[in-house]
Amino acid sequence: MTRPWDVIGIGATSVDYVYRLPVLPEADGPQAKIRISSHRVSCGGQTATALATCAALGLRAKFAGVLGSDQNGMRIRAELVRRGIDVTDAVVHEGLNQFAAILVDERTGERIVLWSRDAGLALRPDELSPELLASARIVHVDDVDQDGAIRAAARSRASGAIVTSDIDRVTDRTEELVGAVTIPILAEHVTPALTGEKDIERGLRKLRARHSTMLCVTLGKNGAVILDGDVFHHEPAFPVEAVDTTGAGDVFRGAFIHGLLHGERPDALLRFANAAAAVSCTRAGAIDAVPNLEAVNEMMLAV
Ligand code: ADP
Repeated sequence: MTRPWDVIGIGATSVDYVYRLPVLPEADGPQAKIRISSHRVSCGGQTATALATCAALGLRAKFAGVLGSDQNGMRIRAELVRRGIDVTDAVVHEGLNQFAAILVDERTGERIVLWSRDAGLALRPDELSPELLASARIVHVDDVDQDGAIRAAARSRASGAIVTSDIDRVTDRTEELVGAVTIPILAEHVTPALTGEKDIERGLRKLRARHSTMLCVTLGKNGAVILDGDVFHHEPAFPVEAVDTTGAGDVFRGAFIHGLLHGERPDALLRFANAAAAVSCTRAGAIDAVPNLEAVNEMMLAV
C-alpha cells in the first residue's frame, strides 16, 4: 500500500508568549520580581514543532489534530501552511487554542513553560478515520490529550503505521500511552517516575520488560539514549551556546522521525536528532528555531 504522507501529527499546537529574563524567578527573595529583557510571540507546541521540523527536513507532513476557533488557532493554521504542512484534516473545536507563557533564562537558554489547554480541544472518538491514519508511514502523537493519543496510536498501529511519541507528563494513563505507541520518546523524568529506577539504563530495561520495541529518552544537555533490544546507546549532546532550549525536544523528535524513515541505526539516529536539536537551541523560539537539512549536516560536520 502506498502511503502519501511520511508523517501525520496529532497533538499540541501552541501560541507561545516568550519572555527572556536575566534570571528565572523564585518565589522568595530578589528573584520574585524581574524586569523582562525582551519578549515575542511565536508558534510552537510539541506536535506542531515536531511536524515543522519534519517538513523543513523534506518530509511530507500533515497535521490532523485539533485547533481552537480563536485568533491563536488561526495563527497556528497559517504558520503550519506557510511551513508546507498539510492542514486539510485538522479539526477545529469551538474555544481557545492552547497557548503558553515561556520564561527563558537569557544566560543559559533554559526555560520554564506555563501552559493552558482547554478540555474542549480533546479529540472526539469519531474524529480520526482509520483511512486517514493508514495514509501515513509514521503517526506522531504527544501527551496533551492522552485519551486521543492512545486511540490514535491503536488505530494507526492496526493500519500498519509506526507510532512515535512525545511523552513528558506522568499521569495514571502514561503507562498505557507508552504501551500504545511503537517507539516512545520520553522526557528524562518519565522513566524514573514509571519504574522507580533513577538510573536511566536500568529504568529502560525495566520498561522493556513491558514494552519490547526501541525506547528513547532525551536528556537535555546530556544528549539522548536508546535501548534497542538489549543494546543501550548513548550519544552526547552537541556542545553549543544555547540561547533558548524551547522546542529542542520537539525538534529532536522531528529529526528522529526523519532518521527512522531513512533507515538510520540507533547511534546515527541519536546523533542526527541531537544535532538538529542543538541547532534549535542556538535560535530563539520553538517553530522559529527549526533547522533544515543543511544546518543539521553543518552541525554534524562541525563536531
Ligand atoms: P524534552 O525534555 O522536551 O524532551 P530535552 O530538554 O531533553 O527535551 O532536550 C531535547 C534534546 O535537545 C536533547 O536530547 C539534546 O539533543 C538537545 N539539547 C537540549 N538542551 C541542549 C543544550 N543545552 N545543548 C545542546 N543540546 C541540547
